[in-house]
This record gives sequence, structure tokens and C-alpha cells, in this order.
Amino acid sequence: PPTQTPAAPAARRRRVLMFPLPFQGHLNPMLQLAGALRARGDLDVTVFHAAFDAPDPARRPPEYRFVAVGEGVPSADLLPSGSDADFAGAVLRINDRLREPFRQALAEEEGGGGARCLVVDSNLRGMQLVAEELGVPTLVLRTGAAACLVAYLAFPALSDKGLLPPPSHDESVLDMPLEELPPLRLRDMVFSATTSHANMARCLDDLVAGTRSSSGVIFNTFQDLEGPDLHKIAGAVGVPVYPIGPLHKISSTTGATETSSLLSQDRTCLEWLDRQEEASVLYVSFGSLVSIDEAELVETAWGLAGSQVPFLWVVRHNLVSRSSSSSSRHASLQLPDGFAEATEGRGMVVPWAPQHEVLGHRSVGGFWTHSGWNSTLESVCEGVPMICRPRFADQMINMRYVQEVWRVGFELEGGLERGKVEMAARKLMCGEEGREMRKRAMDLRDKADKCIKEEGSSKSAIEMLLKRIMSF
Ligand code: UDP
Repeated sequence: PPTQTPAAPAARRRRVLMFPLPFQGHLNPMLQLAGALRARGDLDVTVFHAAFDAPDPARRPPEYRFVAVGEGVPSADLLPSGSDADFAGAVLRINDRLREPFRQALAEEEGGGGARCLVVDSNLRGMQLVAEELGVPTLVLRTGAAACLVAYLAFPALSDKGLLPPPSHDESVLDMPLEELPPLRLRDMVFSATTSHANMARCLDDLVAGTRSSSGVIFNTFQDLEGPDLHKIAGAVGVPVYPIGPLHKISSTTGATETSSLLSQDRTCLEWLDRQEEASVLYVSFGSLVSIDEAELVETAWGLAGSQVPFLWVVRHNLVSRSSSSSSRHASLQLPDGFAEATEGRGMVVPWAPQHEVLGHRSVGGFWTHSGWNSTLESVCEGVPMICRPRFADQMINMRYVQEVWRVGFELEGGLERGKVEMAARKLMCGEEGREMRKRAMDLRDKADKCIKEEGSSKSAIEMLLKRIMSF
């Protein structure tokens, strides 16, 4: 039977059930949403989670009930691995392996009735079907950009036209602009080299069917950032659309931001940042899943050293794929000899950072990111321009919007070489173009601030969402 903490309250209050996808970038916004709902709606929250992916009991909010699903299913059966992760394959396996355990867990949780609805990650169609069978209404949380869903909605038509999978891997073919999806190119629609077209098509079919059969779709974005794409989606999916982001800002007062971190954050970097000059530091982090090879690590290290730009670099314990030191929990062991000495006083390396606080710190003036949606949004909301190095999934789509639409960053393309890293770091942190990008990022930050205030678009969307939840 699923393990549970702690026992349900005696007098059952209104309750919302949640099921995030077991990845950091999906867990964070779901728990931030839990915080936002709980703060405003006086709702109890039950969070179902894959058993292997339990938020740290010491950090998770005591006011939520956590229910582990799929005890005994090894994480290796579910998670993607390698530097070019097959995320779609992982999503299909997770749905397959956790669906029956979830049926049991949901039936037990729902024994006394009282759940208003299940808020489910848009990739968990299997769990949504279980809820539908048991008569629990569902809302879907999209943890990616609205732009990404617009692109995914176009996937079947592009496949029918013979464009997906790409008919050739020639650079000129891959660079073809997609007239129905500006500013995207064909290459931006290729999920990852290891994801088969069939798996991708199945995942997206499920995602779109789940969205359409839900009682509404919640987005971690805001109207002033993605208005036109949100409008397209509202027309295409036929269910209410709730753009209530940036969620990490909305729930920052509830304490939800630190508690969902699966790795422990090194907070000493904040003190180090306190000692740096305003807007002088380049923050470098590739999120929770992307990995690089040892040669790329070395080029990144010497590129940062050569740039002369102060930096804070997150080197996760598993950042380097197939490294002899990859089992080490000590980041600096992976770095080249002489690097620490060469950058002493100017650079800091940590295994995991309190990213929201880092990006909000006055010393941070730029972010070299893998362009995951959370990182992109968190950067935009602090007015921090970006160097983008997307690898897979929706990261290319996010990068195109950063570079072409919002113009708050640029892509670091091609093979990773120290000279290119140096130039990119200097362009963002010291050049005129970087200054212009920072100004535009500041404008977006002001818009993000406005949308979560009274009468703001995200604030109103949350009120609508709460009404919807109470109507179930
Ligand atoms: N993050 C963090 N500390 C780090 C690096 C990342 O707390 O050192 C958080 C970051 O704030 C974001 C999430 O991890 O909320 C990463 O999500 P994203 O969508 O950017 O990328 P993913 O990890 O899903 O590829």
C-alpha cells in the first residue's frame, strides 16, 4: 500500500489533490501552485508523488499531505539518462508504471470523498484517466511556456506535411523557418536525438487530449509576456485557460519556494554575492537534468576563467556524464587542475544554488542557462538577460523566444569552446548589446511585478481559478 504522511485531518475540509511529474522543473511550479491556492482559498492540499522522488521530509511543507505512489518501482525504470535525455520515453514509462498504483492511492484518498479536483501535470495523462474514471474533475498544469504548447499543437499538422520527423538532417533543412510558428525553425521542433518520432507523437497526443478533456489548463506564464500565444491556445483547446505566473513570485510569501528543492542548496553563495559589485556576476546553471561531457566542462571552466567576468557556477554532482568522478558529491573534484587558483576571488562553484535568490541578487547581471522554462521565467522576472545553450525538449523553443521575441538574450551555438565562452560572457556582461538586453529584461520584470499585484492579470486569473475549483 502507498505510504502516507501524516493522517488526514478528522474534519475533512475542502481539498485539492495534486500530482506533479517527478522532475525538479515540474515539482517546483506544482508546489508553488499549492502554496498559492492554499494561501488564498483555505484549501487543504494532498500531493501525490512518485515514491522515488519524495521531496525532502525535513523541508516539505508540514501543512500538505504527501502520498507516495509506486513504492518499489525503481527510479532507473522511469527516469531518462545520458546527455541527450529521452524525456518522452520517460513520460510514457512513468504513466505506464504509476497508473495502477495511483488508482489504489486515489481510491484510498477519496474514500471519504471531499476532493474538489486533481491538478495534474500535463504529461500525466495516465493519472488523469484514473481520476476521470473515479469521477474526480481534473485541471491540467502546464509547466512550460504557452509558446511551447502552441508548437506542440502544430506537431500533427507538421507531421502530415512531411516536415516531422525532419526529411533530412542537413543544416539548411533544419534551419528552415516554420511559417506557421514564427520565430521557430524546424530544428526547434526536434525534441532530442534519442526521442523517437513515434514516442514524441504519442506523448503529444496524450498531452493535447488531456488538456482538452480537463476542466481547465493552468500556465506558469503571464499575459504581458505571452498574450498572443495564450489567445491562440484558448481558441484551440476549448477549455478555460489560467495564466497565473510567475508562480515562484506568487507563492514566495508562502515559503513554497525553498521546500520543493530535491537537492540541498548551498546558501554560502549569497554571502559571496554580497561582496561582489552590482550587476557584475554571471550566474551559470544548466538546470536539474542537462548533462555535459568532460571536454565541455573543461572548455566551460577555461572560458569562464579567460573572460575575466566574475561568475557563480552550479556544477551538479551528476552534471558531467560518464565521468569517473560523476559519483562524487563534491563539485570541485570535477574541475580542471589550476582552475580554482586561476579564478580565486572572482569565481565560485556550488553543487546547487538557491536560484530565485541568486537571480534576484543585485550582484547578478547575467545568466548562462540551458533555457528550461522555469529558469527562463525566473530570469525574466528578475530583469536578468541570458546566454542560452538549449539541449533538448522545450529548451530550443524557449531560447528562440528569448532571442527573437523578447530580445533579452542570445544563443551560444555550436561546439563548446573556451574562446566562444569568453566572447559570450563578455558580450552579455560588458558589451553594449548586453546592456540593451538588460534594459529590455528590466521592462519585462516590471510587467511581471505588475501582473501579480491587485487587478493584475495573473492575480485575476488565480481568482477565476479558485472560483472554478470551488464550483466542482
Ligand atoms: N534550480 C535551483 N538551483 C540550481 C539550479 C536550478 O533551485 O542550482 C531550480 C530553478 O530555480 C528551477 C529548476 O531548478 O526552478 C529548474 O527548472 P528548469 O525548468 O529551468 O529546468 P529543468 O531542470 O527542468 O531542465
